[in-house]
Formats: sequence, C-alpha cells, structure tokens
Amino acid sequence: MQTRRVMVTGGAGFIGSHITERLLARGDEVLVVDNYYSSTRRNLTHLLDHPNFELLRHDVTFPLYIEVDEIYHLACPASPIFYQRDPVQTTKTSVHGSINMLGLAKRTRAKILLSSTSEVYGDPQVHPQTEDYWGNVNPIGIRSCYDEGKRCAETLFFDYRRQHDLGIKVARIFNTYGPRMQPDDGRVVSNFITQALRGEPLTMYGDGSQTRSFCYVDDLVDGLMKLMATEHDVTGPINLGNPVEFTMLELAELVLEMTGSGSDVRFLPLPQDDPTRRRPDISRAEAALSWQPRTALRQGLEATIEHFRSIGV
Ligand code: NAD
Ligand code: UDP
Ligand code: UDP
Repeated sequence: MQTRRVMVTGGAGFIGSHITERLLARGDEVLVVDNYYSSTRRNLTHLLDHPNFELLRHDVTFPLYIEVDEIYHLACPASPIFYQRDPVQTTKTSVHGSINMLGLAKRTRAKILLSSTSEVYGDPQVHPQTEDYWGNVNPIGIRSCYDEGKRCAETLFFDYRRQHDLGIKVARIFNTYGPRMQPDDGRVVSNFITQALRGEPLTMYGDGSQTRSFCYVDDLVDGLMKLMATEHDVTGPINLGNPVEFTMLELAELVLEMTGSGSDVRFLPLPQDDPTRRRPDISRAEAALSWQPRTALRQGLEATIEHFRSIGV
C-alpha cells in the first residue's frame, strides 16, 4: 500500500499534536497546517526532524491547494478565552475554513473528519446528550461564535456529503484534557492544575455544582482514528467523550489532593451561558467504532499534572 498522506489542520494545537504523533508512529505522511492562533510550534518541536512530517503556517480561512488522502479538520480555537478574543475570526475559521477544506476534499476525493463539539448541544435540556438531540444554543451570546460556527460547519459537512458524496466524518468531542494543554488557555483542568501547583486559589466559577465529563486525550485520539477508518456510509455525528460525570467541586478536590497543594478555592461569578450539566451518551460510538474511553480521571490527571510540573508552571 502507498503511504497515506494525511493533513491535520490545527495540528500544532493540543489534540492535533497528539493525532500527528500517532499518525507518524503508524507510518503516515503528515502535513500540519496551522496559523498558531491558539498554539505555538512548541507542541511539535519533537517531530520537526521526522522524515514524514511537514509543517505549514497557513490560515484555513484562505484557500489551500495540495494533494492529500485524509484530512483531520481541527483548526479552531477551543477554549473560551481564545475563541472569545476575536469572535468574528472564530466564526470565519469554522465556516470559511470548513468550506475551503471541504472544497479541497471534493477536488482530491480525500476523506475529511470534523472535530465538532458537545457545545452544539448548548445548555442541554436532555441528559445525557444523544446525537439526535438538536440542542439548546443561544444564537447571539458570547459563546455563539464557537457553538454556531461549529453547527454551521456540521451543516456544511452534511451538505457536501449530500451534494458531492464526500466521505465525511463528524465527531462531537466532549471536554478533553491531557499533556500539552496550554497552561494559560483558561480551561478548567489546566487552570486548576496550574493554580494548585503555584499555590494560588482555585478559581471556581459559580457554586461548582455544574458538571462536565472529562476524556483523556489518548482515548479521544483512538476514537477519532477509528472514526476516520470507518466505511463511506458511516458519517456520524458521533459523540466522543468519557461518560463519567463530575462536578467542578469534585474536580477541584481531586486536583488539590493529587498535587498536595494547600490552595484555597475562590468562588467567582458563573460566565454567561455556561452549561450546567454535560455528559455524553456514547452508545453510538460503542456500536459503530467498538470504542470506549479507558483512562480514569485520576490516571489521566496524573499524566497531566506531571506534564505541567515538567514545563515548570
Ligand atoms: P487548540 O486551540 O489547542 O488547537 C486548535 C488549533 O487550531 C491551534 O493550533 C490553532 O492555532 C489552530 N487554528 C485556529 N484557527 C486557525 C485558522 N484559522 N487556521 C489555521 N489554524 C487555526 O484546541 P484543541 O483543544 O486542540 O482543539 C482542537 C479541535 O477540537 C478544535 O476544533 C476544537 O473545537 C475541538 N474540540 C476540542 C475540545 C476539547 O476539550 N479540547 C472539545 C470539543 C471540541
Ligand atoms: N478550495 C481550496 N482548495 C482546493 C479546492 C477548493 O481551498 O483544493 C476552496 C476554494 O477556494 C473554494 C472552496 O474551497 O472557495 C469551496 O470549493 P468548492 O469547489 O466546493 O466551491 P467553488 O469553488 O465552486 O466555489
Ligand atoms: N471553570 C471554573 N474555573 C475555571 C475555568 C472553568 O470553574 O478556572 C468552569 C466553567 O465555568 C465551566 C467548567 O469549569 O462550568 C468547564 O469549563 P471549560 O472552559 O474547561 O470547558 P467548557 O465550559 O467549554 O465545557
């Protein structure tokens, strides 16, 4: 078989860098396309000399003409701090970026996977969330650039499928954590760990009773690669996440215990439109991909804390 040529947009980011590593390890040629909007080249420095690796600084809102067999389309800021910094650019990235990558896939007949998000369910009124739930999203709020951008990207993926029979795969990713998250990107896992290690108060938004379900990045990457490998008729959307639900207070306690930190918890206002509960129903992923997350939160946090210690936060 010829070497597979895979493009990873957003490959310098947290999840993208892990996918890139795994694709190279299995022998693929990998082209990472990234404009470093919410990352740096640092996540990839250990791969720069790899003979099958190529890195291109490029903004996906502009057209790109190259030849590839598979596209993991991840380019998009993912944490509120980054996606709210330039919300118009966030929507452009999801919408124009997806049109360009779908156009590229149409021309090259490449398979293309979208990293969509649990945010398409908004503040969900159905619990746990199944893929056929249409969501409860505020179209004009401060999270909308991200949520509605991804919803529109999903629409585009399914329309390119219907109009041009593209091989599309849509993954709805739930909160994912692990080594190489940016220490300052504002997400709860990275915030709590860096605050605990620095002996600063943990910033708890609201009363801490809101829930999330945290998936370790290695498990997520397994799911994404399995989804990409499915037959043409498997399009998703498919939820990928860990169905074990925690309150933010429980997460804070666990981080404090595992880091041995004496930090306090400081309660701050809950941001607008912050979802109160979130947990994936992963029956579809179990059936279609034989996939389940394997890493318990405590185990994943160990590796993540170790990473943050090693970079000296
Ligand atoms: P990240 O911010 O670390 O990575 C995103 C990457 O996209 C960054 O390297 C950034 O520079 C790049 N990028 C942004 N705009 C771009 C543009 N216009 N052109 C080229 N590159 C651009 O975030 P992540 O956590 O690795 O997320 C990756 C993908 O997974 C995103 O699409 C995100 O929406 C999705 N996702 C992540 C989570 C999570 O919990 N981490 C949950 C749901 C969905
Ligand atoms: N496109 C791209 N690379 C390609 C092919 C297309 O970036 O290899 C872009 C192109 O600029 C266009 C978009 O993808 O704006 C959508 O392409 P499509 O062929 O679907 O639409 P059209 O070109 O007919 O508008
Ligand atoms: N959160 C918090 N303290 C922080 C950062 C986040 O209490 O320092 C809360 C946030 O309000 C939300 C949850 O933790 O309820 C998860 O936030 P994150 O930004 O990680 O993910 P998302 O809200 O996008 O699921």
